Amino acid sequence: MNRISGKHWSSIFLFFSIAFLAAASIVHFSSPAEATTGYWNGNSPRNYYRVYLSPAWHSSTAGARGECLNKSERSMARVTAYHASVYDWVSGMFTLRERGYDVAVGIGSPVANKNDSNSWGANYHIPIHSNAAWGCSSPISSSNAGTRVIYVSSGGSGLASKLVYYVGQRNYTSYGSPSPGTNDYRGHVNTGITSFDCISGNGVPALTEVCYTTAVAAYLEAEFHDWNTGASWLDTTNWQSRIGWSVDVYLGYP
Ligand SMILES: [Zn+2]
Repeated sequence: MNRISGKHWSSIFLFFSIAFLAAASIVHFSSPAEATTGYWNGNSPRNYYRVYLSPAWHSSTAGARGECLNKSERSMARVTAYHASVYDWVSGMFTLRERGYDVAVGIGSPVANKNDSNSWGANYHIPIHSNAAWGCSSPISSSNAGTRVIYVSSGGSGLASKLVYYVGQRNYTSYGSPSPGTNDYRGHVNTGITSFDCISGNGVPALTEVCYTTAVAAYLEAEFHDWNTGASWLDTTNWQSRIGWSVDVYLGYP
């Protein structure tokens, strides 16, 4: 039997108390009710542009939004945001941070992230989502799936066109494959690309992140998640450099 003095017991109790508090604060940190955001400065040479990535908030369980292969739009969008922004350099891919951008990843609600982006002074704001038509059993093929990007402003239109091309179409195997669907396009919020608009939607504007951000905003639906090929592609982690590539080209970088 081990003999542990009272003093040791109090040390151990203190240790576990601190560990518990740390665990509780981590849980608090990642609580869906929080608009917690990570911010990172761009690596050298830093260009001081600020890019805010806002992965999908939808908190439903895997498969509940029509995701095939038991994927979750929310978790795939978060993984995408981290690989696009700050994830470690992997086999020649470049994150936004490595390209010199200051980046933030918001994991709050659309309204919380919009407010956070505005107060941070983001120059570019990109919500990251995946799309769905009718659910995983719907007859989606490569010719009707694809990348869709929603914008409001003229700047957003320009950024959207780069995202459509570099996420959806451009062949460059060093950055993985472009999205497998071939019906790729951008659209102004009011032109039928979405059934939502800047007014409607659950008491708050559904597209608040393109309607009410001060940054140039482009809302990325990277691919449809309700076909197996699309869900598989979304869940890979070698295409996310294409987001930073799009921003670079939009700004005229070589
Ligand atoms: Zn979504």
